[in-house]
Amino acid sequence: MSCAVKIGAPLISALLLTSATWAGAPSHDIAPPHAAGHAAVSHSHDEVSPTPSDSSADAAHAEAPAVNLDPREALSRLIDGNDRFRYGESRFPRFDSARRSETFAVGQKPFAAVIGCADSRVPIEAIFDQGIGDLFVVRVAGNVAGTNEIGTIEYGVGHLGTGLIVVLGHTKCGAVTAVTEGAAVHGHIATLVENIAPAVQTVKQRDPEARGARLIRLSVRANVQQSMADLLSKSETVATAVKSGRAKVVGGVYDLQTGAIEWLGEHPGQDAILAGGVDASAAHTTHSDPKGSPTKKPAPHQAEGASKHGGTVKPAQGHGPTTPTTQPHAAAKQKQDNWLVLGGLLGISAASSVATIHFVYNRR
Ligand SMILES: [Zn+2]
Repeated sequence: MSCAVKIGAPLISALLLTSATWAGAPSHDIAPPHAAGHAAVSHSHDEVSPTPSDSSADAAHAEAPAVNLDPREALSRLIDGNDRFRYGESRFPRFDSARRSETFAVGQKPFAAVIGCADSRVPIEAIFDQGIGDLFVVRVAGNVAGTNEIGTIEYGVGHLGTGLIVVLGHTKCGAVTAVTEGAAVHGHIATLVENIAPAVQTVKQRDPEARGARLIRLSVRANVQQSMADLLSKSETVATAVKSGRAKVVGGVYDLQTGAIEWLGEHPGQDAILAGGVDASAAHTTHSDPKGSPTKKPAPHQAEGASKHGGTVKPAQGHGPTTPTTQPHAAAKQKQDNWLVLGGLLGISAASSVATIHFVYNRR
């Protein structure tokens, strides 16, 4: 019997509304959505059985595949799936040969897109207890939203009809920690972590006394917010879908120890960011794309102080996640329907992917 809590519409609405639980707010100010039902329970995801019982398998097959869900319903599914996972009641739905055949024949209609960290302890489908074809996942060190990550999300939202976009950070993130500590990084890693530096700098400005674990925890949250702001301010596809209500962008932080997700809701400055217009060209100047034109203006959240190729990471000054872009509207310059380019993007070995691999290797 599942102990997953059914989340009612009011709570889902609360999660999707602008939240006061962003970077800078102490963690005790946040009430996890599942706290009421499981306040005294602390399960580890180690308890997850690798083999579902007959009853859970039946339940999995009984659950209808998700296609083009409303963002609120999609979020409800993720919350329920995470509840199953964290309490050791995963159903491993739609992970069988029938689902493979179905998605091969019909194609994919993932109901949610997730930008998560490459950390091996954050397996996205597993922690949401979802199956093949359910989630459109981007994994990159520090869950940053650079050019390639934004392009991938645009493919999910614009081409596959995905309505919910989740930026998922996690506790003890090595990429974020490296920036908070000003750690020496090499090769393409410096390029990648420059996307994180503005978030860390914002936290330090808000809370100059923050150190150690507290600084890392706040920075993880701010970094989620940073990626959400980048998606909203640099992607016409995402901004248009959010404005119309067809899509939602929400954030969360996954707890490596408990398996729970602290949902953060929408970006608190979302309306201001959307009102500022989209600077599509800015996405091409983020440091995830070292080949970007040097003649273009820096991205609104770009780390000005970070070294280009190696050295110590120095957070930028004056750019915060809540700072709406003031760049001129450049949507007309972006060819939204150029899915051939995006398709190619999905298949190439991108700079950010190379940096992720290097980062993992050097942190060993
Ligand atoms: Zn991480």
